[in-house]
Amino acid sequence: MQFDYDLYVIGAGSGGVRAARMSAGHGARVAIAESTYLGGTCVNVGCVPKKLFVYGSHFHEDFDDASAYGWTVAPAQFDWPTLRDNKSVEIQRLNGIYENMLNAAGVDLHLGHAQLVDPHTITVEGNQYTAERILIATGGWPVVPEFPGNEHVITSNDAFHLPTFPNEVTVVGGGYIAVEFAGIFSGLGAQTTLLYRGPLFLRNFDDSVREFVKEELIKKNIELRFNTNVESIEMIANRRRLHLTDATHVDTDLVLYATGRKPNTQNLGLDAAGVQLGSNGEVLVNASYQTNIEHIYAIGDVTDRIQLTPVAIEEGMCIANNLFTDRPHKRLSYDNIPTAVFCQPNIGTVGLTEAQAIERHGGDLAIYESQFRPMKHTMSGREERTFMKMIVRKTDDVVIGVHMVGPDAGEILQGIAVAMVAGATKSQFDATVGIHPTAAEEFVTLREISRRA
Ligand SMILES: Cc1cc2nc3c(=O)[nH]c(=O)nc-3n(C[C@H](O)[C@H](O)[C@H](O)COP(=O)(O)OP(=O)(O)OC[C@H]3O[C@@H](n4cnc5c(N)ncnc54)[C@H](O)[C@@H]3O)c2cc1C
Repeated sequence: MQFDYDLYVIGAGSGGVRAARMSAGHGARVAIAESTYLGGTCVNVGCVPKKLFVYGSHFHEDFDDASAYGWTVAPAQFDWPTLRDNKSVEIQRLNGIYENMLNAAGVDLHLGHAQLVDPHTITVEGNQYTAERILIATGGWPVVPEFPGNEHVITSNDAFHLPTFPNEVTVVGGGYIAVEFAGIFSGLGAQTTLLYRGPLFLRNFDDSVREFVKEELIKKNIELRFNTNVESIEMIANRRRLHLTDATHVDTDLVLYATGRKPNTQNLGLDAAGVQLGSNGEVLVNASYQTNIEHIYAIGDVTDRIQLTPVAIEEGMCIANNLFTDRPHKRLSYDNIPTAVFCQPNIGTVGLTEAQAIERHGGDLAIYESQFRPMKHTMSGREERTFMKMIVRKTDDVVIGVHMVGPDAGEILQGIAVAMVAGATKSQFDATVGIHPTAAEEFVTLREISRRA
């Protein structure tokens, strides 16, 4: 049978665009469908606008700190429409870049909602296309739980377009998106509460990191409410009253729910094609990203595994290489995936947490920890501190986990991640000359074992 395309990609986000461009570069005839915005979550309502907001929110501390360095700064004022709209202009520029990249690669772009009609046929805005292989890269979408008054909350998608900036905000959730937005709102001047039903946020991160970040957020006057949840929300005048499970309430102007995301698999026609889904609606795939229908693949957030842009991109690269080159089968290693949380100060992390290391390797670990006031704040007087932790497997001296909370932790951990992927030992860290004066040099001068585990 003759198909219109060798590969049809549904979803022009991080993973889909990479798979489409690379496959076309290998000579395949490729089309991609996009229903909402080119570049997907990361570019439009995720990593990029969020990081721009984090930059914006940090300036008030920078203005304060400047005085110890001799600067007189006129009373600083924040204008929300300027930040919001400048961010949107930058995002539009990136949308254009994505379109140009797809055009330059020779990928056909179909704007509209795509659906499968049968295992080889896709329909977009009334047009039908056939493809030998189909890639589902439709990402995810924030979900708000059912409770009375849940129509009065927003999600991270809405936070990027608020018409006015609130005086008081309550962020509900304990994942990294909740913690980041609490920092953004607080830094931009809103009185901010972070509310989470568990005992402590950032559940999958190292426990020392979680405790340390908690203390830092308290210093920044973010009110933390743990072990409680929202039962209902009522509107009182223009404000929201959150009735909580501990029988107290919180009054606030804005409620941001960041309690989870669901794979975008509704109205995709996956049932028509016979593609199996998991309990959260995610597309189930094997190690080669293949669904139960062997010519239909899925990558990125729609598979509900590690929800990070570089992971979706790498999975897209694997698809292109494996389907359209004769190079050896490429698989992504899911060990040692570094990541950052852009709370303030930032978290950077790679490898195992202490709890994971104990579980996996038993009790033969050396834990090195350090915390200190960053040099900049020795003069500014700010109370913010930096934390570092390294976990070493004693049997072979290999560094199996590194965690940091401090300015630019993400930037610093990227280099550490290279060393860990290469299997670096503690002795090799020790043999590395530091860069002085930096915070990062601490990672090559950690001499004293803080404890054995
Ligand atoms: C607030 C926030 C902050 C984040 N910050 C970070 C970060 O700092 N670092 C990081 O690595 N990751 C971050 N992420 C996660 C990251 O954005 C995602 O992991 C990544 O975008 C996933 O890429 P993807 O290709 O799987 O899906 P997406 O980028 O979501 O792309 C899917 C695309 O498919 C389109 N689509 C869906 N259904 C259809 C259909 N039927 N037809 C046509 N098109 C369709 C969607 O419109 C979308 O454009 C963040 C996410 C959020 C929400």
